Amino acid sequence: MTIPTGNALYFDGVTSARHKVTVELAPHALVIRAADGSMIEEWPYPRLKHLSAPDHVFRIGLRRHPLLARLEIGDTAFAHEIDLLAPDIDRTGASARRDRRQAIVWACLAAVALVLSAIYGVPHIADRLGPVVPRGFEQRVGVATNAQVRAMLDKGPASRPFECGVADVEKAGQAALNKLIAQLEAAADIRTPLTVAVVRRAEANAIALPGGYVYVFQGLIDKADNVDELAAVIAHEIGHVANRDGMRAVLQGAGLSFLFGMMLGDFVGGGAVVLAAKTILQSAYSRDVESAADRFGVRVMLTLGADARALGRFLERIAGKAPESFGVLLEHPAAKERAAAINAIAPPQSRGVRLLEPAEWAALKRICAGYRT
Ligand SMILES: [Zn+2]
Repeated sequence: MTIPTGNALYFDGVTSARHKVTVELAPHALVIRAADGSMIEEWPYPRLKHLSAPDHVFRIGLRRHPLLARLEIGDTAFAHEIDLLAPDIDRTGASARRDRRQAIVWACLAAVALVLSAIYGVPHIADRLGPVVPRGFEQRVGVATNAQVRAMLDKGPASRPFECGVADVEKAGQAALNKLIAQLEAAADIRTPLTVAVVRRAEANAIALPGGYVYVFQGLIDKADNVDELAAVIAHEIGHVANRDGMRAVLQGAGLSFLFGMMLGDFVGGGAVVLAAKTILQSAYSRDVESAADRFGVRVMLTLGADARALGRFLERIAGKAPESFGVLLEHPAAKERAAAINAIAPPQSRGVRLLEPAEWAALKRICAGYRT
């Protein structure tokens, strides 16, 4: 049996680039392949949806696609074949009507929000909206922002993976990290599931994105003297996730047009995502936001019975020694103040709980050892 194949343009939903691809109509799904034959994505027929487009273009997307990728097919005969295979490609118009209703609701909300932001200013509105943004939506923003942030941070050669913990010599380190994260996640007890990764960046830093993505840079692991210091930094970042600071920053930085563009599903080109990712990487949080995350981190460390003063100590030790950073963790002038505030609420360590065994900590220190940075 030959599989029907045709040409299409593919938009990945992150960048505005158009990719020439071939599309195979395999029995189970539509398979999208790059020019070199490698598979980009598989789209199951039941989830295909028709997207509005100019008359001569057949444009389809995938329901619940995190990045809102889309395909454009110029060949009418091939488009018709896809149409026949996809049970749900809107023959009744029901989903189009539902989309339109949703769009009208959001358009009304957008109008209200725009008026309010004209009166009160965007930062104020973003502050108010941040906590009420639906979790599912934050998740979508997180997935999209995450892809973009990774692309911006990963400056190494393509031959080595951006994430640590994948090479054979790194696997014990990854296991230790998983053990540590499991303890922190249980103690933090937040609703957003965490995705924590160590990545090959030399700065001593960590960042949290909307949707529970936390990146710990290799430089931070290098600088940490013991597991409590590392745990305390991650606990602080979990505080940002719990307080939804990343979501608020994206709303402030990328503006309300981003928010409503995404809600309407009209996330075209990726300009808004690029802006959102830049916001996350470049904006420093206010003192208040940082203190709130510090307090959250202290609570987590106390719940674990670990050293709740570790973050303050770590900040004081490395502040000023890092010439360049994203500013989120290491706002230099604030390090002393933050340490004092932490010590004020954290009793000196009384019972030393072991978050990791010494051998596990040693392995974690080598979680990026498989590749040279
Ligand atoms: Zn922070």
